[in-house]
Amino acid sequence: MTPVPAATPLRERLGSLTAALMTIPGLSGHEGRVRRRLATEMQALGLATKTDKVGNLIATAPGEGDRPTVMLFAHMDQLGFVVRKIEASGIIRLERLGGVPERALASQEVLICVAEGRDIRAVIANKSHHATSPEEKYRVLPYQEIMVDAGFSSAEAVIAAGIDIDSAVVYAPKAIALAGGRLAGTAVDDRAGCAVIVEAARHLVATSNRPTVHFVFSTQEEFNLRGALLAAQALAPDIAIQLDLMLATDTPDMQARGDVGLGTGPAMSLYSFHGRGTLNGTMPHPALVALLQESARSEQLTLQRSAQVGVLTDSSYVQLAHHGVAAIDLGFPCRYTHSSLEMCDLADLEGLVKLVVAAILRLKAGFSLDRDDYER
Ligand SMILES: [Zn+2]
Repeated sequence: MTPVPAATPLRERLGSLTAALMTIPGLSGHEGRVRRRLATEMQALGLATKTDKVGNLIATAPGEGDRPTVMLFAHMDQLGFVVRKIEASGIIRLERLGGVPERALASQEVLICVAEGRDIRAVIANKSHHATSPEEKYRVLPYQEIMVDAGFSSAEAVIAAGIDIDSAVVYAPKAIALAGGRLAGTAVDDRAGCAVIVEAARHLVATSNRPTVHFVFSTQEEFNLRGALLAAQALAPDIAIQLDLMLATDTPDMQARGDVGLGTGPAMSLYSFHGRGTLNGTMPHPALVALLQESARSEQLTLQRSAQVGVLTDSSYVQLAHHGVAAIDLGFPCRYTHSSLEMCDLADLEGLVKLVVAAILRLKAGFSLDRDDYER
């Protein structure tokens, strides 16, 4: 057995902040509680924060004017549901918000967000097994058929508790520390990315001789991937670096999908595309691919590579902002994505902090974003 490496102070901070953020509910469009926590973290680093009209949290650390400017961003929101209908019996029906995996829903505990301190715990019903027919046994219920039971016996009682049509519903928040520095629970996507930004900011604000960096915690990624676009339009950065999950493909069910291992190091996406509806994706600017490769080499970090259809992030829209932004997706390997028990490895988060800091510090005056310098 390989011994578990001793946790570094950075890894410990990442573990406690990620776990804390994972347990704050923040459905797309309802990110306020996560935003306020992150604003406190950034203000503690001496950075002023502001919030735009879609709820993005922005903090800028001004740097040397002759270097390219950077927007480093991760999304605060998580997928979930909104209340679609309250039945006379007190049973609640849901509308989906984001890529909810229906087969992972039966028997889940959920949290109906009313207000801090007044949230309501509830369960997603699983039909009594004694009454389940052989045909029903292997059928996944579409979300339209799912019943949420919070214990109320009438629609009036549901409404009196503060629940209404459009109330936010998320997986019951949890963070579970596992063996070997791994962390499982809700909204690892993308609270882990948010925690990485806080730690990168801690390092960058204490460093002179660096570019201007805009730290952006964005909204509504799981809804329609446009929240960060507003920040990019307002900030007009030269470069955008997005931090989010990368699909880990080292479990038996994922091996044909790629070559990204959990705990093996941070990863960069070289190709993403979503062909179902959005027809969008990101092919990173070659200058940034080269920058990340050089940074990983100098930091002696393993940089894993991902190329996936079916994955899409905010960067696909951010790259279209203003006169165009050189964009790249970086991330931490993540298992069981969009379920209530996603998993990451704190060593990967630590590697991602080091990688992104090293890359930003390498952005000197005259850094070329001319594609002809790279497309050989
Ligand atoms: Zn995400």
